[in-house]
Amino acid sequence: MTKSRTDLLIVGAGMTGLAMGLALADEGFSVEFVEPQQPDLDSFEQQISEFENEIPSARVSALTLASEQLLRKLNVWHRIAQARAEPYTRMHVWDGETRGEISFDALDLHEPWLGHIVENRLIVAALLQRAITHPDIQFSFGVSVSSFELSDSCQKVRMSDSTERECALVVGADGANSVTRRLAGMGTHEWDYGHHALVATLRLDSSHQHCCWQRFTEDGPLALLPLKSDASDLVSLVWSTSPEHAQSLNELDDSSLCDAITRGSGLRAGKVIEIHNRAIVPLRQRHAQEYVAPGVALVGDAAHTIHPLAGQGVNLGFQDGAALVEILCAARDRSEVLGSLRVLRRYQRRRMLTNLRMSAVMQGFRTLFTPQPAIVEMVRSLGMRAVDQCSPVKQHLMLDAMGLRGDLPELLKRPLKI
Ligand SMILES: Cc1cc2nc3c(=O)[nH]c(=O)nc-3n(C[C@H](O)[C@H](O)[C@H](O)COP(=O)(O)OP(=O)(O)OC[C@H]3O[C@@H](n4cnc5c(N)ncnc54)[C@H](O)[C@@H]3O)c2cc1C
Repeated sequence: MTKSRTDLLIVGAGMTGLAMGLALADEGFSVEFVEPQQPDLDSFEQQISEFENEIPSARVSALTLASEQLLRKLNVWHRIAQARAEPYTRMHVWDGETRGEISFDALDLHEPWLGHIVENRLIVAALLQRAITHPDIQFSFGVSVSSFELSDSCQKVRMSDSTERECALVVGADGANSVTRRLAGMGTHEWDYGHHALVATLRLDSSHQHCCWQRFTEDGPLALLPLKSDASDLVSLVWSTSPEHAQSLNELDDSSLCDAITRGSGLRAGKVIEIHNRAIVPLRQRHAQEYVAPGVALVGDAAHTIHPLAGQGVNLGFQDGAALVEILCAARDRSEVLGSLRVLRRYQRRRMLTNLRMSAVMQGFRTLFTPQPAIVEMVRSLGMRAVDQCSPVKQHLMLDAMGLRGDLPELLKRPLKI
């Protein structure tokens, strides 16, 4: 029976867990990852060259400038940027039912871009490649956790292959259906948005102009996100709509679906001429009632999942991980017990309200754009146009969307310009 002891056992080597684990190991903590998937451990360069010959995956993230900072500090951003990160310099959001619209431009903030669109698999590959060579990180692939004995000071973890581990703290970074959350008996508040997302990679008949296009309709938002390609003509589709509508769209042949997306996006970004990698993802809002219990903490989608309409999910996950790293470093400096509720509650206090606020905003958008009486639609349209004309409000919204406001952990802050 294998028994090893590390400072942290991170359950789940996805984007959030890997970023957090690397940051912890860079601070001198010993970390073990438990991940049921067996990833491709070929060299990153080899994986990238394979990716480059393929149409981009349909699972992408809009990374804020704050998340870019984190990935820079973890020394992986240059690899992501060299590969297939596409900067977006503008965002255009409009109401499909009225004449309301808002445009955001990086130039208004004297920034080169508002963020980047990156394939999730590329982010994971870049983080993994650095983590597998880190002297303070170990991996157990192909296994999961099956039970915990949790306490303040020593966590005993039994694995699916009957081996055991001991650690100071278990971190659940195992996504929306977190087993860590369930095994630790942590409840959730959940509700169905009544939306499924149809995702795909599309080719347009013209350049995407480095713009994120998002049309709000009564069925839900349709977003086209710019992807890297020689002709700047590839975009990622996220069309959130009723499950029945998503299903009926997905039953269309490629040519009819391209036409439906062109119509759905109001032709603003051009005509859709190719579709690849289509899939349907059900959308559900979840929020753990507690992020922490003695000996365990949840980060990323294990703690909260939100509607993708503002592209904030993994950005919040990175903030969770970085905040927890900061709190654990401070606790170690004071010789406190890492798994104690006294320490872990500092993390919950720091992150829960911010994440709940973002969930509420997403729910608000969802409700605002469901069918409304004409008067509400008129106010909505006037409101959007008023915001578009008001630079201070727009700048405020842009800084939020870029992750540059609020109580940011140090790892996500940009160096001060001198
Ligand atoms: C359609 C769509 C579009 C989105 N667009 C954006 C966007 O533009 N920007 C953005 O910021 N966010 C976006 N999101 C949200 C984002 O994808 C998630 O927030 C993000 O993937 C969460 O990362 P995570 O590492 O916390 O969890 P996950 O990515 O779910 O990773 C969890 C990891 O845990 C592993 N795991 C699962 N079960 C176990 C187990 N039992 N034991 C051990 N490990 C386990 C998994 O294999 C995986 O490696 C979008 C989401 C959707 C659905």
